[in-house]
Amino acid sequence: MYHPRVGQLPPNTIVGIDLGTTNSCCAVVIGDGEVKLVPYKGGDYTIPSIFAVDEKGNELVGHDAKRQWQLNPRNTLYATKRLIGRAPKDDVVETVQRSVQYKLHPGSHNDVELDVRGRAFQVQEIASRILAKIRDVASDHLGFRVSRAVVTVPAYFTDRQRQAVKEAGRLVGLEVVRIINEPTAASLAYGIGKRLQERVLVYDLGGGTFDVSIIDIRDRVFEVKATGGDIFLGGIDFDEAIIEHVIGDFQGQTGIDLRGDPVAMQRIRDLAERTKIDLSSRAEAPFSVPFITMTPQGQPLNLEIRFTRATLERLVGGLVDRTLGIVEKVLHDAGTEPSQVDEVMLVGGQTRMPLVQERLTALFGKPPSKGVHPDEAVAIGAALYAWSLQENSDLKLTLLDVIPMAIGLEAAGGAMHVVLPRNSPIPNAKALAATSSVDNQSELAVRIFQGDAAQAALNELLGEFVFGGVRPAAAGKVRLEVLFEVNVEGILTVSAGDLDTGKRMTTTLRVTRS
Ligand code: AMP
Repeated sequence: MYHPRVGQLPPNTIVGIDLGTTNSCCAVVIGDGEVKLVPYKGGDYTIPSIFAVDEKGNELVGHDAKRQWQLNPRNTLYATKRLIGRAPKDDVVETVQRSVQYKLHPGSHNDVELDVRGRAFQVQEIASRILAKIRDVASDHLGFRVSRAVVTVPAYFTDRQRQAVKEAGRLVGLEVVRIINEPTAASLAYGIGKRLQERVLVYDLGGGTFDVSIIDIRDRVFEVKATGGDIFLGGIDFDEAIIEHVIGDFQGQTGIDLRGDPVAMQRIRDLAERTKIDLSSRAEAPFSVPFITMTPQGQPLNLEIRFTRATLERLVGGLVDRTLGIVEKVLHDAGTEPSQVDEVMLVGGQTRMPLVQERLTALFGKPPSKGVHPDEAVAIGAALYAWSLQENSDLKLTLLDVIPMAIGLEAAGGAMHVVLPRNSPIPNAKALAATSSVDNQSELAVRIFQGDAAQAALNELLGEFVFGGVRPAAAGKVRLEVLFEVNVEGILTVSAGDLDTGKRMTTTLRVTRS
């Protein structure tokens, strides 16, 4: 689909990119403020967030990677967004390894690396390949080389994960002009141009992550009151629940455990997702995989189960409960009753499941809004925000977001000393007074964490900041100040200064350091 005005955009145009766990999407505002989604091969507006290396060593991204997934499961990487900015000892990493066919190992920067045909990739390299593919398709469509983007991330991403997304852009020469939160982007898609005065709750359940934000919209001011989520809860977990049920049932009937057979597992995974989607519009669906394996005697076996919507709801009810528990916590954090929410907006493909909509209707006393397209709203919001940042734009927006989890440092005894509580508005800055604890101390080291646990070690270590400019003096005689600044993107910079000598030192905590 060619749109004449598309070809006339200036080359420094900023596009909006929704870099999703399962699918990604790109959009751009054309001349008169209208948003266009970038189409991919075959007319799709989303591209699978999948990367693979085939047997000839070719790198494949998107639809091409997805097409060969069943036959090449060990060298096909999917849902890697769940691993971005993660330390190898993170529980999440082990959980991912149990459910995917590709192999992970600890990297050299306190991160995770992925094995593909004997090559090791950092997680942000995979994100960068996907970004590059989106950039190339968008460049072909728009007729100039796209070099600047607003990229969305889950609201519940930590500083470290946000840094990793910026790094992914840098690796392929794509300037990530701004990172914004996915639910906030969706609220822009919903609210711009309508002169609204509303409190909305965005319930965003995508392929791999769950986010909820309560946002007050006052015409062009979008103010996030509270946010919460789980970056490890999404459609993939619904698929996983089906897969476990199916292989358990098959094992019960035949005594054969299919978990060790990557090709069989991949066939089941594909069908699990399709069956789940079918059951959003039907009460029953067959689950049938012919010749899934052989008996020890060499006889082929089929996998045959009838699946009902009721069975699916029994299997995934606990996951939906978890999302509602988070919704209630966020309502509480925002000091809001369900009845004070004007609209509940659904974002992310998994919200098409009837059970999700029924449970939200029961909680809020009214059905969720159909005001935005669940798969496209985030990219559209990112494009609108990108447009507002451009010099030639007449769209003026005020976006007031928050940090999703507390930021603090490790105090004596290992407790988390919170500097910026969760849901603190950003941008934000807070100074802490500090002093030397021993005579002639030459350095001040601070370990900085993000998370809501009372023990610092249970939260995510963002990094260690060492201030080497301490003036030699008796213990307690040095007056130091440590300043925590979080920018509009939720990225933290720490600086320290000696108040007597005026000496200062600054660092932005970087994910690439161990
Ligand atoms: P997203 O990350 O927003 O693209 O969401 C993708 C997730 O939504 C995947 O886990 C899909 O399986 C799931 N999904 C897409 N369509 C449906 C549907 N009709 N019913 C249930 N889940 C769906």
